Amino acid sequence: MRDILSMTLPELREAMRELDEPSYRAGQIYRWLHSKRSTSFAQMLDLPQSLRTKLSVEFCIKSLFLARRLASSLDDTVKYLYRLPDGQHVESVLMHYEHGWRLCISTQVGCKMGCRFCASTIAGYVRDLTASEMLLQIDETERDAGVQISGIVLMGIGEPLDNFENVKRFLTLLSDPDGRRMSLRHVTLSTCGLVPRIRELADLHTGLTLAVSLHNPTNEGRSAVMPVNRRYPLEELMEACRYFFETTGRRVTYEYAVMEGENDSEADAAALGRLLRGQGAHVNLIPVNRIRERSYHATRQAAVRFMERLARHGVHATVRRTLGSDIEAACGQLRHEADTQGT
Ligand code: SAH
Repeated sequence: MRDILSMTLPELREAMRELDEPSYRAGQIYRWLHSKRSTSFAQMLDLPQSLRTKLSVEFCIKSLFLARRLASSLDDTVKYLYRLPDGQHVESVLMHYEHGWRLCISTQVGCKMGCRFCASTIAGYVRDLTASEMLLQIDETERDAGVQISGIVLMGIGEPLDNFENVKRFLTLLSDPDGRRMSLRHVTLSTCGLVPRIRELADLHTGLTLAVSLHNPTNEGRSAVMPVNRRYPLEELMEACRYFFETTGRRVTYEYAVMEGENDSEADAAALGRLLRGQGAHVNLIPVNRIRERSYHATRQAAVRFMERLARHGVHATVRRTLGSDIEAACGQLRHEADTQGT
């Protein structure tokens, strides 16, 4: 059965042709799915019963099951563990910002990238998410929390540029003026640095913000914690980031998880200064979230100290608010737990 929530309007029109149905039915179905967020064909009351039956034979409307919800007692952050139709789990994190609600969503079950400090990668890679499974994280969270989400960050479990076809489809559906109508200016995509895909993304002119997970300013140090750096070293990564900025006019932001004694020395600050010189770049510092299987750690004070060091080397950085630190809001931790304890 075809996953109808992942289909674009032109694809739905084509499907109607194949079913010998008039083309305007596609628009009706698309509106039910993407504007009214219907969860079954039975709700599509302006379609003839015969068509609704035909649809339920040919297509499925996927859904997510809310397996766990953890609300922070320190702030408004809520972390969701969703079970996918095949029993796998992913996480989404809802955060409150000055301008509204933002959802961090997952793009894969597990991850192939192998970053040493990241919980998402510990049990390896299972599969890519479909576009519908990305959209459903938004729909289910809005339904549960009773809020309207105005910003999306692709920073949950998985490497979005390693599931590029489905992520592109998700972005198309999310921003479609005939459907969900979210401006991609309110979307941030975070990558560990798959260079050819960064260039491809730039050429698409989507308007989204690119965040690059840097975490170390030297090839030696970065390769030790992020295997992807051996394939795409810093010189190539920075060149791709420059290309992204020149092509889209959108400044790249950098993520840097401060790990005490690993990447926060004076020499690291100087090297980061050299790497980012002349870019007017912004660096988000986050004290690394401790995960049980690894020894990396940092206090907020360590991150602030590194921020001050960076300032002396001309790098503009801020220490990101650590939202939901009491609910293990760093992505990957909850899914990992569910899989090892059988939630
Ligand atoms: N694969 C993408 C997006 C998912 S990870 C990427 O690498 O950017 C989202 C962000 O969380 C990345 O910047 C990642 O490096 C960071 N991260 C992973 N584990 C972390 C931890 N234990 N503490 C702090 N940040 C972490």
